Amino acid sequence: MPTDRFSLMVHGGAGALDNVKDDRTAVRYLESLRIVLEHGRAILSRGASAIEAVETCASLLEDDPLFNAGCGSVLNELGRVEMDAGIMDGRDLAAGAVAGISNIANPVQLARLVMDGSEHVMLIGEGAMRFAEHCKVPFAPDHYFLTPERIAQLDQARLKHRIMLDHDEADELAESQKYGTIGAVARDVTGNLAAATSTGGVVNKRLGRVGDTPIIGAGVYADNETCAVSATGFGEDFMRTVIAKTIADVLDFKGGDAHSAADEGMSYLKRKVAGRGGVIVIDRDGRCAAGFTTKRMIHGWIAHGGETVCRF
Ligand code: ASP
Repeated sequence: MPTDRFSLMVHGGAGALDNVKDDRTAVRYLESLRIVLEHGRAILSRGASAIEAVETCASLLEDDPLFNAGCGSVLNELGRVEMDAGIMDGRDLAAGAVAGISNIANPVQLARLVMDGSEHVMLIGEGAMRFAEHCKVPFAPDHYFLTPERIAQLDQARLKHRIMLDHDEADELAESQKYGTIGAVARDVTGNLAAATSTGGVVNKRLGRVGDTPIIGAGVYADNETCAVSATGFGEDFMRTVIAKTIADVLDFKGGDAHSAADEGMSYLKRKVAGRGGVIVIDRDGRCAAGFTTKRMIHGWIAHGGETVCRF
């Protein structure tokens, strides 16, 4: 297996996705992932680092209103956007995260700034926003985030008195859904791993709710000695199982590869908490694997610099 080649994976959320299986919407999601993967290919093959690649790919997905991150973020119980993001560098376990932030077009970039430019791993709410100001990150206006689709989606969730994934699978709510949270994992040509995840969370969530996405070891994790992981699904399930780190631990303590670790991680998630969602995993040899307990997960990959594959 060529180990001097890069590998890259991205996801756009997990769920049923039955309603869009054959229509134009599905093509749009897959096309969007493909464009992002090709962009990642271009920079990784020119020698970009894994951390640069995951930040770039996650930012591009945040800029696409199709996904539940950045400008496409879902709304909380008050009809506001509160976003979470995390990023991790497998070289030295450096990590950065932000939670409960608003008016930032690319939360993953702010997470990277926390990693590189503060002595902390996570900043939340007002503190994160002040840090953004300090770093001269431009603020985006409310209307950049508040799309008619997201308002309608929140109204549906409120009617049902429930929270839901952006791409919930349980009922007719799925009809009008867009798909979810985004993430990227990469192995660069020098063998370094990195992971990034970004989300608007779950629809109609309580004010102040933080999910798995920015929690290092739950929604995002990278360690050059094992693997890089990005997760999507019901965050509470992923936090309680510390799923991303659990998958890395499978590789560390039991050996195997990205495929066996993703499978074991998903069995654990199901067995322990009947967890709903999925993960993308790249191991230290650049093998790419996806695992999910939902019916589907929209994702794509380039293994060892090979062809681009997108699935849901
Ligand atoms: N994991 C995200 C959260 O719970 C949601 C998602 O993946 O769609 O905030």
